Amino acid sequence: MSKTLIQFFGGLKTIGGTIIQLQYGQARVIFDFGLTFDPGTAIFDGQVKVRNSAIVRDYLKLGMIPKIEGIYNKEQIASDSVISAEEYEGETAVLISHLHLDHMGAIGCIDPSIPVYMTEQSRLLYEQLEIIGEGVPGDRSYQSCEYNQSFHIGEIKVTPISVDHDVIGACAFHLETPDAKIIYTGDFRLHGSSPEKMKEFLQKVKELKYDALIIEGTLLKSEDELAEHLLVSNNELSDELLTEPKLQNKVAQMLKETEGIGVFNFYHRNMERINGMCKAGEEANRKVVLEIKTVQLAHTFLPKCHFYIFESEELKTSLRENKLFDWQKQLLEKYPLINAQKINDNPSRYFVQNSYENIMELFDLHVENGIYIHSNGVPLGDYDPAFHNLQKILGLLSLERIEVSSGGHALPQHLKYIVDELDPKVLIPLHSFYPERLKPKNGQQLLPVYGEVYEIGDIVNR
Ligand SMILES: [Zn+2]
Ligand SMILES: [Zn+2]
Repeated sequence: MSKTLIQFFGGLKTIGGTIIQLQYGQARVIFDFGLTFDPGTAIFDGQVKVRNSAIVRDYLKLGMIPKIEGIYNKEQIASDSVISAEEYEGETAVLISHLHLDHMGAIGCIDPSIPVYMTEQSRLLYEQLEIIGEGVPGDRSYQSCEYNQSFHIGEIKVTPISVDHDVIGACAFHLETPDAKIIYTGDFRLHGSSPEKMKEFLQKVKELKYDALIIEGTLLKSEDELAEHLLVSNNELSDELLTEPKLQNKVAQMLKETEGIGVFNFYHRNMERINGMCKAGEEANRKVVLEIKTVQLAHTFLPKCHFYIFESEELKTSLRENKLFDWQKQLLEKYPLINAQKINDNPSRYFVQNSYENIMELFDLHVENGIYIHSNGVPLGDYDPAFHNLQKILGLLSLERIEVSSGGHALPQHLKYIVDELDPKVLIPLHSFYPERLKPKNGQQLLPVYGEVYEIGDIVNR
């Protein structure tokens, strides 16, 4: 009889880059296929070019993707490095929990003969990302799955379950083989816009039953930063905690108290945040002006929001030279354009999106007495060299940066709450610098190492 084997290829002690293989007999699923994000040490520093046609070979050489047998195209790998998809006999599927780069940045490297599943919402988002030029390198199609609808890869039964994270389409996976039941949470939080999703998640996985829980631990800290007695189960949202709904109110309040322009920098894969910023602007009686790429996403997913398109220098040139993409033409027929001059007539009436890559646009705007609301947009913090440049540029503009952020990850006490609620026989924390800090209630903690294959059924019954 076959056994359920589990092997870890990435993400054990890093934030993201989680890659896990679960095998039963001739079938296996590999879940999440992202890249770790560390701008301080990344080889592709924004200057070194990514060679799209050699990406698998290059990523393998740099250790950015793991040497897993049977998932890469024969022609794209260096001859003897690893067995190709064509040469592999078993059945494989890849599962993607959500569309953050640390979970999906390398999906384009997977051979097109292998299905890559993501929820239908994620697939729709991916389609839009491709339209605006933010798809990942690699040419292939993606398969969709539905929440709570199981499907089989060989004898492995896969059930996607909705979780609340700061990107639409996020899910956890429940994986069942003849000898083991496992939950992989992906990334999640309890302080998002839909806390009920996490209640339903708990209910659903309890119904499905489980032996092992693989859980993210992004916000776990060292013992010096977070004492043991404080890491206790608690699902409350404290008054100070800026939840996604509270963030919107805070931004609205700040805008009302500001005499000049409001500028904001966020991550546009977060639809709840786009929605919150639009609502905050509306409440403060300001016109919300978005970059055209964000307008494409808002147009698709937030049909009730009101906004304008910012006429950046790049867009102005494309208009003048008649070089607009079709999607841009369609948006321009529907949403009005607003340029810097117009905004400068009365900056206090506007709330303008500005991504870091477009920061030069701010030099055309009157930003006196304005604010720069930094709301989880890149560069995120001190660990990114670009962060210092952002501060330098804002210094030149005399524009004050105010951080108003709400992260996508569960707080330590919330992680412990989920663990204690589920109380699995085996707890596998990862996607964390301090996975060992997340302790099980009654079961055993497994801190896996790379290169080891674990017989999950044996561990569960030990
Ligand atoms: Zn992540
Ligand atoms: Zn994430």
